Amino acid sequence: MAEETNPLQELLIDELKDLYSAENQIIKALPKMAKGATSPELKRAFERHLEETRRQVARLDQIGKELETKLTGKKCKGMEGLIEEGREILEEDMDENAVDAGLIGAAQKVEHYEIAGYGTARTHAELLGYPRIAKLLQQTLDEEGATDQKLTALAESIINVQAIEA
Ligand code: FE
Ligand code: FE
Repeated sequence: MAEETNPLQELLIDELKDLYSAENQIIKALPKMAKGATSPELKRAFERHLEETRRQVARLDQIGKELETKLTGKKCKGMEGLIEEGREILEEDMDENAVDAGLIGAAQKVEHYEIAGYGTARTHAELLGYPRIAKLLQQTLDEEGATDQKLTALAESIINVQAIEA
């Protein structure tokens, strides 16, 4: 399965390595975001997504096995930048509600990056004739989409605008 002469195959492996690095960076960042959040619901959402993210890494490991390739050794610079932006929010001297609002925004940027990355890799896996891999990528894509929607709902329900205005 590991004929790396096909340029699209090489591209797919590169995309999977990028996602593998991104997910592992997220695993390191989410506990800090949970700690920095004030709303218990938001803390819980970050903690649950941490567990989900660990399962997503396991899924990528499974994909790597199917392709007989290691997915380590690449650094996702896009995710590095997004996480750095989230860290800046935690360092600012802001009202708790504003910090929560900022953390949700930062987390949604992370989800959107993942949604773009998984959507692309899924399509390339389909084109290359790897339906099992495409299905695994679609599962993670669905989870990232659900997380994004949950974050939007949290932004609408927990952010106390009055408190921020005061
Ligand atoms: Fe993820
Ligand atoms: Fe995610």
